[in-house]
Amino acid sequence: MFNKKSVQDLTRKELEGKRVLVRVDFNVPMDDKQNITDDVRIRSALPTIEYLIKNEAKVILVSHLGRPDGKAKDELRMGPIAACLQELLKKPVKKLNDCIGQDVEKEIAQMKNGDVVMLENVRFYKEEEENDENFAKKLAANADIFVNDAFGTAHRAHASTAGVAEFIPAYAGFLIQKELDFMGKALTDPERPFCAIIGGAKVSSKISVLKNLINKVDTIIIGGGMMFTFFKAQGYAVGKSLCEEKFIDTARIFLDQVKNSRTEVVFPVDVIVGQEFKADTPSKVVKIEEIPADWLGMDIGPSSVRKFEEIIKKSKTIVWNGPMGVFEFPRFAEGTNRVAKALAGSRAITIIGGGDSALAVERSGVADKITHISTGGGASLEFLEGKELPGIAVLQDK
Ligand code: AMP
Repeated sequence: MFNKKSVQDLTRKELEGKRVLVRVDFNVPMDDKQNITDDVRIRSALPTIEYLIKNEAKVILVSHLGRPDGKAKDELRMGPIAACLQELLKKPVKKLNDCIGQDVEKEIAQMKNGDVVMLENVRFYKEEEENDENFAKKLAANADIFVNDAFGTAHRAHASTAGVAEFIPAYAGFLIQKELDFMGKALTDPERPFCAIIGGAKVSSKISVLKNLINKVDTIIIGGGMMFTFFKAQGYAVGKSLCEEKFIDTARIFLDQVKNSRTEVVFPVDVIVGQEFKADTPSKVVKIEEIPADWLGMDIGPSSVRKFEEIIKKSKTIVWNGPMGVFEFPRFAEGTNRVAKALAGSRAITIIGGGDSALAVERSGVADKITHISTGGGASLEFLEGKELPGIAVLQDK
């Protein structure tokens, strides 16, 4: 399935004493006092880091944090992250003051086998996002081997995710391997029936995924704000609901393509409409053909939820990306939460493409009952679109 070389292919003999540059995605959420509010991204990288320590490598971690726009910013330094990792590993993690240059070189030269250092935020250099060759060369100069374990940024061709692989041999970390094993298998060799649930705000941002899923999945369930563009394409009035007028034709073409395929598209049959886009707006349930002119759709209705639950129950593989409604407002989160619970209660292989849907399963308290929750929203979306991710393309083939 996964046809790239991974750290697992590197033996103790190949790792012992070697300087291994590991690109991790430690772009964790923090409060205004730089306390980490969710360390899941750090914990997700532990299998790779621990494997390298166990095999006596010298582990050099590199990540970005926030959007410093090519300048050093004190509030975006990696210190708190190194401290968190140190606690998780129960072993010192030295945070260096830069990510390239002589000082870094000196520090790395003093490392012993099994030591771990954390380089400074790589986006303090604008060359990182430009994938500047010279900058990538400087990053690579301090290492013998490159391991990419940053799935969250694998869809970006940056110096530390792709560029460095020009200079030193590149391998996947365990996290990237796991992400691709689950999502890759779902797309190429799924247990059927295979159902994709696609929601979120806009057709424009999900149309490539929808198109790529035609003939791969048995059923596509469409919910969220984007359903209204599809409703309009089918001749329904959608009131003041979110609707991308410019994408009505795209939606129509997509529905025609689906008609000639093995895939079936299922829409909600009812929606919860509100008078205004507000958390406490008056609301009511209406059939999709009866959306009043001055109301707007905020969530899928109860009959739709039951319909979707039935499909979920019968499926053996389910991929979900995007909320069913405006789930940030608790009164309009029911559809999204019920889908989250239905996935958790099913025996299917359930895969969640990060972002809002991941948040919904966490808020519903069912995250531990999902087979795989992707750590990269944007990256998993591009993967589902069928695109080759630059940070994965550069890894050595098996
Ligand atoms: P996306 O990032 O494309 O997955 O979209 C997620 C966003 O879609 C969330 O912020 C939701 O509030 C929004 N959304 C879902 N349903 C609706 C709706 N019916 N009207 C407006 N926005 C919606």
